[in-house]
Amino acid sequence: MDKSPETRHPVPAFGWAARDPSGQLSPFNFSRRETGEDDVRFKVSYCGICHTDLHCIKNEWGSANYPLIPGHEITGVVTEVGSKVKKVKVGDKVGVGCLVRSCRTCEHCANDYENYCPKPVFTYDAPDYDGTVTYGGYSDYMVANEHFIIKFPDNMPLDAGAPLLCAGITVYSPLKYFGLDVPGTHIAVAGLGGLGHVAVKFAKAFGAKVTVISTSPKKKQEALEHLGADYFLVSSDQDQLKAAKGTMDGIIDTISAPHSIVSLTGLLKPHGKLVLVGLPEKPLELPAFAVVPGRKTLAGSNIGGLKETQEMLDFAAKHNITSDIEVIPIDYVNTAMERLAKGDVRYRFVIDIGNTLAATKP
Ligand SMILES: [Zn+2]
Ligand SMILES: [Zn+2]
Repeated sequence: MDKSPETRHPVPAFGWAARDPSGQLSPFNFSRRETGEDDVRFKVSYCGICHTDLHCIKNEWGSANYPLIPGHEITGVVTEVGSKVKKVKVGDKVGVGCLVRSCRTCEHCANDYENYCPKPVFTYDAPDYDGTVTYGGYSDYMVANEHFIIKFPDNMPLDAGAPLLCAGITVYSPLKYFGLDVPGTHIAVAGLGGLGHVAVKFAKAFGAKVTVISTSPKKKQEALEHLGADYFLVSSDQDQLKAAKGTMDGIIDTISAPHSIVSLTGLLKPHGKLVLVGLPEKPLELPAFAVVPGRKTLAGSNIGGLKETQEMLDFAAKHNITSDIEVIPIDYVNTAMERLAKGDVRYRFVIDIGNTLAATKP
């Protein structure tokens, strides 16, 4: 097979790629497949910068193949559909999240949990079923099977809605699955970043009482006044932890740094659930007494299936939930990555691909 990214597929494409573990992104010519009969092609308008993108371009998880075009919070406008496509038409607003293919036959796919399929194809830097490698949304056009295309409701903006395709579904899915979407429940969101800030918005929309748990007392005003949380708890403050002991039905733990599980499970009521969605690099410590007394659940959750992603986006549109974003031009992306590494963003960078990418083409 032709291994050159530029000629491997018939349709020329352009994006920004990392070439080595320095993670520096720069202009890159490659190619995408033709629009197949079940495929949707769209011109990319915006792409969110997920923390995963930063891990991948720097090869922090050890699996990077260069050149690597990141981006899995991709939105745009349909330019071409295959003959069998029913879901969308040319001109529709659409998005693609973390997945572009799955086997479609296993029990998980059959139950709309493509995210737990044993043969998933992730949106970038993943081997596709045809032996080629996938390229993400820091690029001019996307093409994907219609099953993996999310329709954007009219009132959902393509910029502030983009991060919902990864950050949004990552927190929405566990709230639903673990029964934490019930009015009157007390939910805590641990960590107030890209994931945490949308978790607060979804939990409030479900009618929950919401506590934000953060290491940074500086985030209190923001959490309460801007995001609408009911309470704020500083994770290092033993008095506050003690006062909140045994009061919570569920905790969505978005923290990706090493942290104490015991101090979180201590906040749960009996039968309470602590759900991890962040991925700290080192193992967390779990003493049995954190979960045995009170029959508590420690669980994990990873993105969501396609049906649920559409449901999440429709729910967000209905409740005016979007991500808080800072829109940037593509040539700011390396600076944005440095700022993201320091946590200096409120709360998601979104690249204005549609208006700024073409001008960087050599
Ligand atoms: Zn992501
Ligand atoms: Zn499957």
